[in-house]
Amino acid sequence: MTPQKSVTEADVGGKRVLVRVDFNVPLSGAHSTDGVGGSDSTRGAVVTDDTRIRAALPTIRHLVEHGARVILVSHLGRPIAGERGAAQPEFSLSPACRALEALLGREVKLLEGNLEHEASVREAIEAMSDGDVVMLENIRFYPGEKNNDPEFARALASLADLYVNDAFGTAHRAHASTAGVAEFLPAYAGLLLAREVDTLVTMLRDAPTPFIAILGGSKVSDKFGVIERLIDVVDTLLIGGGMAFTFVAAKGYDVGTSLVEPDWVEPATRMLEKAAQKDCELLLPVDYVVADRFAEDAATRIVAAEEIPVDMMGLDIGPASCELFAAKIAEAQTIFWNGPMGVFEMAPFEAGTKAVAVAVAANDEATSVIGGGDSVAALKKFGLEEQVTFISTGGGAAMKLVEGAALPGLSALGEV
Ligand code: ADP
Ligand code: MG
Repeated sequence: MTPQKSVTEADVGGKRVLVRVDFNVPLSGAHSTDGVGGSDSTRGAVVTDDTRIRAALPTIRHLVEHGARVILVSHLGRPIAGERGAAQPEFSLSPACRALEALLGREVKLLEGNLEHEASVREAIEAMSDGDVVMLENIRFYPGEKNNDPEFARALASLADLYVNDAFGTAHRAHASTAGVAEFLPAYAGLLLAREVDTLVTMLRDAPTPFIAILGGSKVSDKFGVIERLIDVVDTLLIGGGMAFTFVAAKGYDVGTSLVEPDWVEPATRMLEKAAQKDCELLLPVDYVVADRFAEDAATRIVAAEEIPVDMMGLDIGPASCELFAAKIAEAQTIFWNGPMGVFEMAPFEAGTKAVAVAVAANDEATSVIGGGDSVAALKKFGLEEQVTFISTGGGAAMKLVEGAALPGLSALGEV
């Protein structure tokens, strides 16, 4: 289904294979400030959610089993480019490297040297045997990464014989390790990347109906392209979260002090019209949990959608909306969910998101695809992540793909 060449088609035995993975994982634990630098300074930091590392295992294992010499590349967070890792130990990939070692059951050496200016990285790679795995330090320590500098991409490429991109989470970025490097090496799609693309493309092309999408989250401006595309393909679109209030305003009702993007009211009106023309059932919440301020201990009330008090803000969908949305979700054959229904991080405003998560999990007839960092965090918070069909590891990339935008990381692999 995916047009890119798969890593399974590559002859990797004895070859040095540069693999872009997305090990941008959350960390916790004390970062010591002993000033020693390097991995010593990150002693104690641990990966708190290894989902992305686990997701890359099939590709890494495939390469190891086929005798490749695996050189992993990833970014972590947003370090200052140009500052050496020793100066920014909190962005070291060392904790991710240790987590991978434990999962893989073999040594994964972290190469901390500067790949452009020091011989140590090249020497370590030359010393590798078939089946060995090493990891470069955070690729965003280099200014050439985000600038997609061709010279940097060439330096990176010179470490290897083949390139595999398995970092779906960064496929929407045109960086040296996600796009530029593919100019200089035979390039292949990793198993995770291929599966992500395949799942989303299949869903958009020929999903069994009824196809229902649930969109939420904070801003309509972030996801306008997604709304527009989904109206073309789904039977029912449920909109909750902060973005719903721009639609409430578009319908001419008061939103009180709720999150609204005034510049997007007119486009939202167009979307309501488009949905009507396209025969897409676009449902907004019928009631809200409103609060007098944005706080866990705020005074709250439940009000109808047309009756939001001027001095209160909507922070969750109300119980009637939960019922309405859950009933629609129960009928679906295909479900796509992105974005929480309310401020689920605060207990008084989590019920809407929980109701949607429970309804999606309960529908075991349907194929359910969940994307978005916060939506996935919500699903995990409610312990329901095992009960959905597919969780995308790439929030932003998944949204771009759904929107129909070209992803540089995919195009670089030679999309046909
Ligand atoms: P995702 O990461 O799943 O794509 P977003 O990043 O778009 O989701 O949005 C998630 C954020 O939206 C959450 O932090 C949540 O608190 C916030 N949010 C949801 N509903 C509201 C609301 N009614 N008002 C303000 N913020 C909201
Ligand atoms: Mg988010």
